[in-house]
Amino acid sequence: MWCWDRGISCIQMLSVQPDTKPKGCAGCSRKIKDRYLLKALDKYWHEDCLKCACCDCRLGEVGSTLYTKANLILCRRDYLR
Ligand SMILES: [Zn+2]
Ligand SMILES: [Zn+2]
Repeated sequence: MWCWDRGISCIQMLSVQPDTKPKGCAGCSRKIKDRYLLKALDKYWHEDCLKCACCDCRLGEVGSTLYTKANLILCRRDYLR
């Protein structure tokens, strides 16, 4: 069901182990020092940084799916628009 070509990808929420090296966020490129991080599109994100390019909603809160179109990350509503 998940297919990168169709622009649909899943979001995983992972808990950060305190003894591992902090990962860089793909959104703001700062280190992720939160308790949780999101993994999507093979990159790591702050919960605050994985947002819809159109309506700015936090995709990790909206659901476990994100949509991509023309290099933009979108929520389902904006993708289908
Ligand atoms: Zn970030
Ligand atoms: Zn949106």
